[in-house]
Amino acid sequence: MRTVTVVGASLSGLYAARELRAQGFDGRLVIVGDERHRPYDRPPLSKDFLTGRADEEQLALTDAEETAELDAEWLLGTRARGLDARGRTVLLDGGRTVSTDGVVIATGASARRLPGDGLAGVHTLRTLDDARALREELGRGPQRIVVIGGGFIGAETASSCAGLGHTVTVVEAAPLPLVPQLGAEMAAVCAALHRRGGVDLVTGIGVAGLRGTVTVTGVELADGRVLPADIVIVGIGALPNTAWLAGSALTLHDGVLCDDGCVTALPQVVAVGDVARVGGSRAEHWTSATEQPRVAVANLLAGRTTQTARPLPYFWSDQYGARIQFAGRRRDGDNVRIAEGELADGAPAEGGFLALYERDGRTTAVLSVNRPRPFMRVRRELAREESRVVPAAL
Ligand SMILES: Cc1cc2nc3c(=O)[nH]c(=O)nc-3n(C[C@H](O)[C@H](O)[C@H](O)COP(=O)(O)OP(=O)(O)OC[C@H]3O[C@@H](n4cnc5c(N)ncnc54)[C@H](O)[C@@H]3O)c2cc1C
Repeated sequence: MRTVTVVGASLSGLYAARELRAQGFDGRLVIVGDERHRPYDRPPLSKDFLTGRADEEQLALTDAEETAELDAEWLLGTRARGLDARGRTVLLDGGRTVSTDGVVIATGASARRLPGDGLAGVHTLRTLDDARALREELGRGPQRIVVIGGGFIGAETASSCAGLGHTVTVVEAAPLPLVPQLGAEMAAVCAALHRRGGVDLVTGIGVAGLRGTVTVTGVELADGRVLPADIVIVGIGALPNTAWLAGSALTLHDGVLCDDGCVTALPQVVAVGDVARVGGSRAEHWTSATEQPRVAVANLLAGRTTQTARPLPYFWSDQYGARIQFAGRRRDGDNVRIAEGELADGAPAEGGFLALYERDGRTTAVLSVNRPRPFMRVRRELAREESRVVPAAL
């Protein structure tokens, strides 16, 4: 393989570039990214960057020394527009092309938008530019903020805004946020954090539309109520960035379909991170984006699937002074047991807690609020257990 092109110059793209060099690829490495920025870390955007506790330099994922070592051609501010049917030519903005022997697709996901969200004062939070714009508006003094969507990004953003002294309401269409991720019982416990953080949580009602002509003035709910707002933050999930692959030979269905080894329908094209649907599921978590590239690159260089990636799902979230960590594969109907710490009034007590999800006498998943050490122990045990069980399924 003489040329490999990594499309997407963010977390998983950078890790793929590192792996290419670490696994001995010494040919031409091209990295295409449509953002103007060098790879930066997104998790702080809704947390310390928004509150001003972290600045832009602290978001950098790489430095000049590593960039020189990678010896790559960085095409930043450049969008990939297509991939030919053989997967040998990446089409770029302005009609330019890159001829390539291998491709790593690492184009991530984009924030889902609401119709009419072009009004001033309406924000999504996915990129550094998004976060800069929101941070600037938040700096103009106390305001009324409505966050649409009570998922992790919505909750973290609400927590950051409340911490800055704004009046915050979160609107969630489901009866309770985060049920698919945590199950109803623990989702209720985490939802209680909003209340404790002084944020109003309105659930079980959809949004009919945004009010305002030039600048947003409110959010209209499905029952006709209007929540006045100076700033609206739309946190209703993300969509995988696959539009540029329309017309390629790849199968696209909520992401780029890959086997368990991140290999697509073309053996010399692999996909990693938020855009990749690996072995039937697509994760939008930092850890998957950093773990998949090792396996994907090994398979790319081998020209076929020789390794598989099925890491134990893991994610974390920081909100209202609580570090929430979850690992494992829970299913509805699992029994949930508080193994350490306790709840107070249905919310995490001071000192946090550790909850185990159990089925047929086995632990399936673990959730912790501010109990990182026992959490890591159980997470490691679960991963070990799974590595003993899973090979049969590969
Ligand atoms: C605000 C925020 C907070 C988060 N917090 C957490 C957290 O606490 N815990 C956790 O586990 N995860 C968190 N995540 C998720 C985590 O950041 C993502 O899983 C991770 O960024 C995925 O990395 P990626 O490289 O696959 O995709 P992305 O980071 O989305 O990067 C993809 C890159 O490809 C570029 N691109 C897209 N299309 C093209 C194209 N056609 N041509 C060229 N370039 C293109 C994009 O602009 C982007 O730069 C958070 C995400 C956000 C946005």
